[in-house]
Amino acid sequence: MNILVLNSGSSSLKYKFFDMATEKALLSGHIDGIGLERCLVKMSMDGRKEESKALVKDHVDAIILALKSLKDKQVIGSYADIHAIGHRVVHGGEKYEQPTLIDEKVIRAIKQLFELAPLHNPPNLAGILACRKILPSAPQVAVFDTAFHQSMPPEAYLYGLPYELYEKHRIRKYGFHGTSHKYLSEQAAKLLGKKEVKVITCHLGNGSSITAIKDGKSINTSMGFTPMDGLIMGTRTGSIDPQIPVFLLKHKQYSLADMQEIFNKKSGLFGISGLTHDVRDLWKASVKGNSRAKLALSLFCHRAAFFIGGYIALLGGIDALVFSAGIGENAWHIRRRICKYLEPLGVEIDTGLNRKNNSLIISKPSSKAKIFVIPTNEELQIARETKQLILEAKPLIKDARSSSKRLKELIKERNEAKN
Ligand code: ADP
Repeated sequence: MNILVLNSGSSSLKYKFFDMATEKALLSGHIDGIGLERCLVKMSMDGRKEESKALVKDHVDAIILALKSLKDKQVIGSYADIHAIGHRVVHGGEKYEQPTLIDEKVIRAIKQLFELAPLHNPPNLAGILACRKILPSAPQVAVFDTAFHQSMPPEAYLYGLPYELYEKHRIRKYGFHGTSHKYLSEQAAKLLGKKEVKVITCHLGNGSSITAIKDGKSINTSMGFTPMDGLIMGTRTGSIDPQIPVFLLKHKQYSLADMQEIFNKKSGLFGISGLTHDVRDLWKASVKGNSRAKLALSLFCHRAAFFIGGYIALLGGIDALVFSAGIGENAWHIRRRICKYLEPLGVEIDTGLNRKNNSLIISKPSSKAKIFVIPTNEELQIARETKQLILEAKPLIKDARSSSKRLKELIKERNEAKN
């Protein structure tokens, strides 16, 4: 089975095409700058990369371009060779705890959740609608970032607010990066050779979150009602005292827009260091003695260790700690500092293995918990979940041949409109 995975952002489209017999990504691409003057189109196949510029008006144009690349590179013979499409959708609210075959009802639900994910769900839906237009017969599946965390118990997902706010407005912890945490915990369970395991997964990138997973189920996670909560991030605050915005609004003349900007874009590693959000540059600056860069990295590790320690208590122990994403996979000094805090809890890092590039296991043989560095692969996880759902839902799926015809018509219409 061949599956196309799409991640549609507000002005970008990332795509990967998988042959699920081998789970190999045959081609991947990134179209960045949709709707802007000029758009950068990147494509990668068998380690070869190509880059070009194009005018890409909207998500329909972007998806046409992506599909064309699959055909031009002879990855597919016809569009009927795309057996299903898996979409990353950020917010599934409380409704979706599983990947879901997309129909009118699901589309309405994704729209209803715009309020909770105003930056993500609208472009995610734009990608879905574009695919329905271009490939109307290809089954489409939504894989929600929040779904994996729907297994959290109420004591983990409720805030200490009046219960009516949850009942009326669904204000609760949802958690994000679920597809990544699920993938990482499944990989860890495979490495440990058993399913009943206590795993803590650290997805540390520009956006960062940590999840406690028991026997394959998320029991708590550091992001909350929005992806701002929890860890100190590249430019986001992470958890702060809820009285801080009230104080700034009431006594210091900050507007709502100011605070949105500060909390989202000017805080975190960037805000503390006053330099950059990028851990590579912060590390260089701190080695040269920059005290604010050092402070930013210290805050990051301190907060991460605080969550992991708490999660070890909630899990009643730990079998594996997993580091992943840009910082988790690359910044050995961050892993070392976080693990230093965890030594009294039986998590012992091997500093030699940790310094090596591409070590999968970085714990000492004496460590009670294994420490893994696993590159995350959200696209493959989406493809796996899409495949599984399609196999279960086979009777619902029609012949995709009519899609090819519709695509040809659309390209013709759009070319005529451009000329
Ligand atoms: P996103 O949340 O945008 O997907 P990534 O997972 O790609 O983020 O992580 C990006 C971050 O990872 C960078 O901002 C940088 O802080 C960090 N990073 C990437 N490469 C390295 C490296 N070699 N060493 C240290 N940090 C790195």
